Amino acid sequence: MHPQDPTPAVPDVHDLRNVHDVTTAERGSFCVARCACGWAGPARRSRDRARTDAAAHITAPPPDGD
Ligand SMILES: [Zn+2]
Repeated sequence: MHPQDPTPAVPDVHDLRNVHDVTTAERGSFCVARCACGWAGPARRSRDRARTDAAAHITAPPPDGD
């Protein structure tokens, strides 16, 4: 056994309801909204539009296909 276990002491308390964590990322002259669940919005020319996509995704996330 290794004395330094890489496993964090904090228990994994991922709440499925909070899995949708959307951020916006710049892609050249475009902005794309991406979510922790793997969802990504369309490339937008304005960050505002990407934020709107993100808000819409959080409000009505796609059904879990898994
Ligand atoms: Zn999501």
